[in-house]
This record gives sequence, structure tokens and C-alpha cells, in this order.
Amino acid sequence: MSRSAHPAGPRHGDVLPEGHYTPPPSDLNSLDPRVWAQTVERTAEGALSVGGMDVRRLAEEFGTPAYVMDENDFRARCRAWREAFGPDADVFYAGKAFLSRAVVRWLHEEGLNLDVCSGGELATALAAGMPPERIALHGNNKSMDEITRAVEAGVGRIVVDSFQDLARVAHVARRLGRRQPVQIRVTVGVEAHTHEFIATAHEDQKFGLALAGGQAAEAVRRVLGLESLELTGIHSHIGSQIFDMAGFEVSARRVVGLLTEVRDEHGVELPEIDLGGGLGIAYTSEDDPREPHEIAKALGDIVTRECEAAGLAVPRLSVEPGRAIVGPTAFTLYEVGTVKELEGLRTYVSVDGGMSDNIRTALYDAEYSVTLASRASEAEPMLSRVVGKHCESGDIVVRDAFLPADLAPGDLLAVPATGAYCRSMASNYNHALRPPVIAVRDGEARTIVRRETEEDLLRLDVG
Ligand SMILES: *Cc1c(COP(=O)(O)O)cnc(C)c1O
Repeated sequence: MSRSAHPAGPRHGDVLPEGHYTPPPSDLNSLDPRVWAQTVERTAEGALSVGGMDVRRLAEEFGTPAYVMDENDFRARCRAWREAFGPDADVFYAGKAFLSRAVVRWLHEEGLNLDVCSGGELATALAAGMPPERIALHGNNKSMDEITRAVEAGVGRIVVDSFQDLARVAHVARRLGRRQPVQIRVTVGVEAHTHEFIATAHEDQKFGLALAGGQAAEAVRRVLGLESLELTGIHSHIGSQIFDMAGFEVSARRVVGLLTEVRDEHGVELPEIDLGGGLGIAYTSEDDPREPHEIAKALGDIVTRECEAAGLAVPRLSVEPGRAIVGPTAFTLYEVGTVKELEGLRTYVSVDGGMSDNIRTALYDAEYSVTLASRASEAEPMLSRVVGKHCESGDIVVRDAFLPADLAPGDLLAVPATGAYCRSMASNYNHALRPPVIAVRDGEARTIVRRETEEDLLRLDVG
């Protein structure tokens, strides 16, 4: 398509409309290694490749949109977390970020444990052979059925979230003649600097039992008084997409404070603490995440210092990264359908997916970056908004990004860092068919979650 068919919108250096711009890189073809999976590169022909596979071939073979996951990168990140925390700590991958049987097997092979928070996630973990003792069950409203299946399976840990939840787990364990290990989830009163809907430790929200006001201490009393429960520790998860370690520091201090109170009141030293997940990743070049070894050192130092000050033996630490492991390992591959220039505003680039495969932009104002993936281009940067095909003007994938001005229908775009909370939050809005997840490794690609079909949709529709 010729340039004049859709002349570029405002360029870098022009007066730009309102918005938040990551300035265009000096070269639109360059790839920032922080936002892309490890093996992604631009080949001599100009297209992206991942795990040795050209994205044009992937699009041909598997169609678009598709989530493309770098298996070696996923495994490398698991190992980095495992090695950073060492043998005296446990790393639980938060399954809600993205879960499939293949992922469960990778986690198992790389020595990670697994957090689940629903019957469906538990079923997936068990179906893929995760040993139950390495599974933790979370949730603020677990059903009796979910609790029963978890206790029956023999999960290593259930994290209790309320007095009712505690009573239900105790009831089920007693009925099944088990002594179920549990942790108590506490809210430590930390304001994590993140979006309101993903901050979870300030007091006015649905999760956990508050330290302030003594609910957490009361839950400890109740669990210690029950034969069918074994209290192994205290759990705190302060939120998600956090870069600043200060919140974890306060959280660790307050959790150790509770352990000290428990020792003083009951003469019991609880052997575990879990500081949750929430470590941020780079969605754009402006984000600067910490490496696992820095996080491990920071958390280890805080816990050790606080315990020594309180005269407590240092408990076994666990952490629960979801996004930080899977987020950067995948990108979404889309095909451009239409390119619409709005004079003096920006150019709207419509792709063949949207809010049904990535709700995070609409839900959290999340920022993403995007690159032309099927070829390199020397054209000028064009201020663009990448939008989906759904019936909402809020159906935005990438709010503000610079793409080359010669972009045309049929080009492939890749949006990096979509491994976490994209497929797992995907919907069938407008009866969209949820995209497949393609795992790529050493020059081979395979489907680990297949694309939905219209038969899948109609199979549920039994009216
Ligand atoms: C969501 C969640 C996590 C993982 O959060 P990330 O931001 O993906 O690291 C860990 N623990 C609990 C309890 C959670 O709810």
C-alpha cells in the first residue's frame, strides 16, 4: 500500500496530542531485551524470530492472533528464581498468571512449587502430575468442594483467608481424618504503589485477616486450638507489578512481628513465612525490574535481620512470583487489518484480536509496547494506537506507541510481555475464539493450548 493511502499522523517532534508516550526509539526496528523473551531477535531478513522460528512461519502455521511463548526463557527464569532463593526457600509459581499442563511439567522439572486458587487450577496441576505436596491452595472464598478436593489430594498447604474459610478447612480435614498444613493470610496494612485493583495488603479490601485490630492473632489462636489443622506459618501478599522493595520490607517486619507475638503468647515458633508475589516486569523500556538474585537477597536480609532482632530462629521463606516468571516469556502475534489515520490526532491500527486476548489495558490502564514483526522498516515513526476488533472504544491493546509510517494491512505486529494475565484472563467477548499458546524451543514450535473453535463455543450452548 502506498504511503498516501494512509499518510502518517503526528510525528515525533510535532506537537503531540494528550497521552503518555514512551519516546520512539532512535531505531524502530531495535528490540529492548528487557521487554522481549530471551531468544527473540530480528533476523537479517528483518522479521522477528523466537527460539529460532521466524514469526511469519509461525503465523502461517498457527494463525493469528497467537501467544508465542519462549520455553527456554520460561525454564531459565524458573531456574534463576530457584537458584537465587536456594535450598532453604521455596518458590511457588502463581498459576493464575498462566497455567497449562505443559507449564506445570516445566515447573515440576525445574523444581518449582505451584500456587492454585480454584478447582480448575488444582485439576490442571494434578492432571499434569505436580506432586500434591508441592501445591498450595489460595482463595478468599474456596468452596467446600474445592477444599475437599485439595485435602483429599494431599496439597502441601492451604492458605486460609477468613474465619469461615478456616472453619471450613478444619471441618473438611477432620471429616477426612487428616491434619492439614495451613498458613494464615494476613493483611499487613501496606499501600503497595500499584493499581488499586492489584494492591492487596491495605486494610480496605477483600483479602486476608488484618494484623491491626488482632484478627490475625485471633486466627492463630483458633488454628492452634484445632486438631485437624497444623499451623505452619504466616502469609502476606501485598500486590502486583511492584518495583519498590520498601513494601516487602514493611510486610516482612510486620509478619515477623506476628511470629514474635505468637511465640510470646503460645510458646510456638512457626516454621514458615510466605511473602507472596507481585514483583514487577518491564512492559515498556521505562520499567526497570529487579533481578531474582537482588530480590532474594533483599528479602532474605530483611527476614534474617528482623528474626535475629526478635530472637527467633529464621523461618523457611517462600515467595510466589507469577508475572515475573511467565510475563516476559511470551508475546502476542497479531495481523494488522486496518490502518486509519485521524488527522492531527493519531493513527488507529486495528488488529485481529483485542480486549478478549488482553484485557489489562482496559482493566488497569496497563502500558504495552509493540513492534512491526514481519519485516524491518526505515519509515518514519507514526504515533499509533493499536486497537482490537471488539465493539467497544475502550478495546485498546497499546494506547500510545510509535510504529513505522508505512505500516499496512497484512503486516504482523508483536506485543511483548503478554505471558502473564492475558491468556488466563482471556474471554469470548463478541464470541471471539481465544487464541492458542504456541511454545517455541530450539527451532521447533508446538501448540500447548489450542485455538478455540466455533464448535467449542457451540458445545456450551445447549439451549
Ligand atoms: C496473584 C498472586 C501472586 C502472584 O502475583 P504476581 O504479581 O503474578 O507475581 C502470588 N500470591 C498470591 C497470593 C496471589 O494472589
